[in-house]
Amino acid sequence: MQANQIPEIDPKKVADMIFTLGEFGAHSGTGVWRTAFSEQWVAAQDCIAGWSREAGLEVRFDAAGNLWARAEGTEGGDAIVSGSHIDSQCPGGRYDGALGVLSALIAITALKDAFGPPRKPLELVSLCEEEGSRFPTAGFWGSRAIVGRVRPGDCDNTVDISGISIGTAMANAGFDPAQISQAVRDDIAAFIELHIEQGPFLEDADLPVAVVNAITHIRQTKVKLTGQSNHAGAFPMDIRCDPMAGFAEAVTTVIDHANALGRPAVTTVGKCSVDPGGSAIIPSSVTFTIDARHPDPKAALELYKTHDIMLSDIAARRGLSVETEILLDLPPCLSDPTFLQAMDRAAQAASIATMHMASGAGHDAQQMAEICPVAMIFVRSEDGRSHTPEEFSTIEDIVAGIKVLAGTLYQLAY
Ligand SMILES: [Zn+2]
Repeated sequence: MQANQIPEIDPKKVADMIFTLGEFGAHSGTGVWRTAFSEQWVAAQDCIAGWSREAGLEVRFDAAGNLWARAEGTEGGDAIVSGSHIDSQCPGGRYDGALGVLSALIAITALKDAFGPPRKPLELVSLCEEEGSRFPTAGFWGSRAIVGRVRPGDCDNTVDISGISIGTAMANAGFDPAQISQAVRDDIAAFIELHIEQGPFLEDADLPVAVVNAITHIRQTKVKLTGQSNHAGAFPMDIRCDPMAGFAEAVTTVIDHANALGRPAVTTVGKCSVDPGGSAIIPSSVTFTIDARHPDPKAALELYKTHDIMLSDIAARRGLSVETEILLDLPPCLSDPTFLQAMDRAAQAASIATMHMASGAGHDAQQMAEICPVAMIFVRSEDGRSHTPEEFSTIEDIVAGIKVLAGTLYQLAY
């Protein structure tokens, strides 16, 4: 690795690009509504493609819909890649994902301008449908296609709320779903993703940028507690098997457990349904979800085991039966230690104070980790907010993040 060099980053150019990209799918004043393969999303991808060509990068779209822009390396070899996604929540903000794509473009352009072509190929990627905001089961679509995790049939079986399959949406946007396996890459040496933090840790610490050492384990479990439905008036309390009482105890027990463990453990019950759901009926069953996360691989498994024990215990005491089904299980993704060192050196060279932290949200980097070492950079989010038009990061913080990114890419590619 070369000694560190940080190129100049023009704050005005950064601001212009953020606001120009934010016009594609502009919504609710400061937000965007830009779902994958929509007209607004295609136009935004084309805008980034245009900027990339102007910067002298070689531009192409892969079969999944991802945009790639490459600065060829003088020595060839596997590529150093940086990027994120520009699809948004409905509506989301201008920064979630988009900032990682723009930062990669700005950093790669600045490096090329300051130091000439890289030794290793340096690539920008703008990934598609990270959020799953249009196709709820297609989250991380672009990055999953790159790592070979899109299964045959997914293009037909994955549909949006109006019943349009992702394959049809891709075809309408000019991509060939039959060719999606061509999106697989086996020539990537590193993936570095810059993203807004989406939480309050940087603001609490009064720092602009964080080096992300891990992405948390995310497990979502569907739980069904079944008891016996009876009349709310005629049936006495002492012989009831009431799944609602079990549900209430389960919710407080798992949430209190995360509170007792302390940061960074988090547990959320965000969804529940009651059957049959009548005011004067003891329910027959209550079904709910538990989303539980911890970035430490061992602590995460311990957390999930504890939940299982708690649920069985509550069910047994209350005469209920319990069924669980894991809906989503994303193992933790640890950042590459040499990349963390490179980021620390870059931050130091640019005189930017940083901290190390884990990401509590899932990111494309977690998928990319299947084929290459990864790491992430976070930029402070105002009030820790995201997935809303109100999300905001200052240009000063963003420029600091881009400098750390550029300094890291310099060490990896020059
Ligand atoms: Zn994102």
